[in-house]
Amino acid sequence: MTHTVAENAAPTVSEFVPQSVEQAREWVLERISLEQSIRIHGNGTSGHSDPISLEEGGCFPVSSQDLKTIHFFDPDDLVAGMQAGQTAAEMQQLLAQKKMQLMVNPWYPDSTLGGMVSANISGPNRMNMGGLRDSLIGIEYINGRGELVKAGGKVVKNVTGYDLTRMMIGHLGGLGLITSVNFKIQPFVIDPHALFLETDLQNWQNAVGLLQSRRIPLDWIQAVSASAEGNRILLGAGFSGNPERRSRIANELQDVFGEKSFMLADGDDSPEWPCLPGKERFNGFLPAYLEHWQINQPGLHLQASLPTADILELSLESLSAWDPRMIIHPVGGDLHLFLGEQDGDRQKKFIQTLLKCLPRQSSNMRLLRSAPEVGFEHLGHFAKPPGYSLSCRLKQHLDPEELFDAPYYRM
Ligand SMILES: Cc1cc2nc3c(=O)[nH]c(=O)nc-3n(C[C@H](O)[C@H](O)[C@H](O)COP(=O)(O)OP(=O)(O)OC[C@H]3O[C@@H](n4cnc5c(N)ncnc54)[C@H](O)[C@@H]3O)c2cc1C
Repeated sequence: MTHTVAENAAPTVSEFVPQSVEQAREWVLERISLEQSIRIHGNGTSGHSDPISLEEGGCFPVSSQDLKTIHFFDPDDLVAGMQAGQTAAEMQQLLAQKKMQLMVNPWYPDSTLGGMVSANISGPNRMNMGGLRDSLIGIEYINGRGELVKAGGKVVKNVTGYDLTRMMIGHLGGLGLITSVNFKIQPFVIDPHALFLETDLQNWQNAVGLLQSRRIPLDWIQAVSASAEGNRILLGAGFSGNPERRSRIANELQDVFGEKSFMLADGDDSPEWPCLPGKERFNGFLPAYLEHWQINQPGLHLQASLPTADILELSLESLSAWDPRMIIHPVGGDLHLFLGEQDGDRQKKFIQTLLKCLPRQSSNMRLLRSAPEVGFEHLGHFAKPPGYSLSCRLKQHLDPEELFDAPYYRM
């Protein structure tokens, strides 16, 4: 099946949407024999699926979105395996039928599993309950020679030699077309609750610093801009367990957050705050915040990753004139900044201001949405994450003909 990506004057390429792995493989082999390169998509939620003009030397798009077979779901062995086109929401719904879940935090409900692995997604549970790297136990993909490779396995304890499974995490479509993934899954946590504190840009870091120093066993932590404008921040810290455990953690948290904090069970709404931290953290948490901030489509979405200690020292005062909306996962950690601003020149100015706030040695940045004229090159030194040159060497080794086109490897 093919989808026409757009109707432009210049001939654009139709996206190929294979209905089976065999079809995908035949199509990849055909591209190899015709010396054409490939751009991989899932559901396009990252916004990078713009049509590519053949006249611009574009490559041929393929999407794994229709590969949806469920191979196995075994709650007793805590494993599930399915094709890469299943979405985050579909997978969590299936697992929820047996009170199980995948402990990763997609931004969008429609993100496919292939896209999530490829982007190495992370969110509020990062560091506290393991992330995608800890959950992925097996993978199947089509490599640059058109071979179907299977790595890892179906079981949680699986001794392999060279770790091909983990190598495929975060490759952003540059190493192969992921067709299936096997995950370690977990039972629902017991009675999840969270304590929330309304604070501001000057004070949220103190609260998180105190939490860190007391080593309170949290399930997740997230700080978000409280409303569509202004510097108020809502900080949420999640915990779970039997009543005794919860009460002990809640007391410790209240000691840090103070009297103004409030506690809610997971899923309960606050009449005052329609969009609380931790909301929809396993099913795609970003759309609810964007709606709350009345940002229909972010003009700019940037992610900065830096160690917890540096996040807690960060001063973002110089950004206040721009009033960006923020989602912060302080442990790990990462900071997302959103602007409704669509103008590319203004976006570049914002980025220049942000770059001056970040510690040079320990930070790196990802550009997730921007005006077309804003690219990786505007992130300067921060565009390349640690290990970038190793990733490029891996790409040269595994895909020497550069069959899979991925902008990440062209920095
Ligand atoms: C640099 C970057 C970092 C991101 N970090 C996060 C994050 O931390 N959390 C999060 O939720 N989202 C993150 N995203 C957005 C993320 O891409 C989407 O949330 C989601 O994971 C993608 O699902 P999708 O099906 O819409 O994929 P798309 O948006 O279509 O594609 C996203 C990326 O995955 C690749 N890809 C998609 N399917 C496959 C496949 N079958 N085989 C191989 N590669 C594939 C694409 O080439 C592309 O690079 C990030 C995006 C980018 C570009």
